Amino acid sequence: MAATFVSALAVLGFLLCVEVAVSDTRCRARSGTCQSTSIRCSGNYVSNLCNGPSTRRCCTPTYNDRRCRSRSGTCQLTSTQCRGGSYVSGLCGGPSNRRCCVRRTGGNTGGGGSCTAEQKRLACDLFRSSNVQAAQRHPSGQRDNAYPYNNLRDMCNGGKASRSRYHCTGKGCNAPGGSTCLSTKLLKYLVNLKSSGRVIINELAGACHSCQSRHYSGLAVDLHNDRRTSEYLRKCTQMGGWGQNEGSHVHCQFYDGRHPNW
Ligand SMILES: [Zn+2]
Repeated sequence: MAATFVSALAVLGFLLCVEVAVSDTRCRARSGTCQSTSIRCSGNYVSNLCNGPSTRRCCTPTYNDRRCRSRSGTCQLTSTQCRGGSYVSGLCGGPSNRRCCVRRTGGNTGGGGSCTAEQKRLACDLFRSSNVQAAQRHPSGQRDNAYPYNNLRDMCNGGKASRSRYHCTGKGCNAPGGSTCLSTKLLKYLVNLKSSGRVIINELAGACHSCQSRHYSGLAVDLHNDRRTSEYLRKCTQMGGWGQNEGSHVHCQFYDGRHPNW
């Protein structure tokens, strides 16, 4: 009886070890090590990649993965399958078998190229201007191809501006994904602003907004709230739009007649 009990424990122990080994694969795919957070990590701890208690986390080395992230990709070891996409070399830090997994949707060129030639020209004007600082992050910290920088770049490259596709807390709906053309009115407004000084763009088509937000239709912008705020609001109205100081940012939106009451 005692022998049976001991062997049962041994089997149980073995199964637990296997479980740990299997569950830590997501951490290892990022070249990380699962360990207790009481141990110092020279890189960054990432949650939800390791088996065990919540204090057991994935210590990942710090690599420069910015070029991969700007293409909405994830840097991981090529021994891990790149689901729904393909590996691109030269975009990730670390060893040579650590590459950028880029999903087929939301790639470098954004959506299909059906925006007008004028919209493309205006987007290039903004993208190449030293007066325009287009954010390469979302306030949420979510990573995708819908940062203002990516929106302008993709439009300038003849594509569309990507929208985010993620859960929005407290909005009643999620960021819808897909892509849109930034409207000519909106682009002209931004060109006007940058021609008289530096302008910081926090969001265009990406991130979370209210369910029917004009951001999702390429008709709205969130500008960094700075000393030019009153000018942003005045010009927004002058050019046929509607603006509002929302504290952290200034929202300006335009109307295209596609929607009733817009
Ligand atoms: Zn807004």
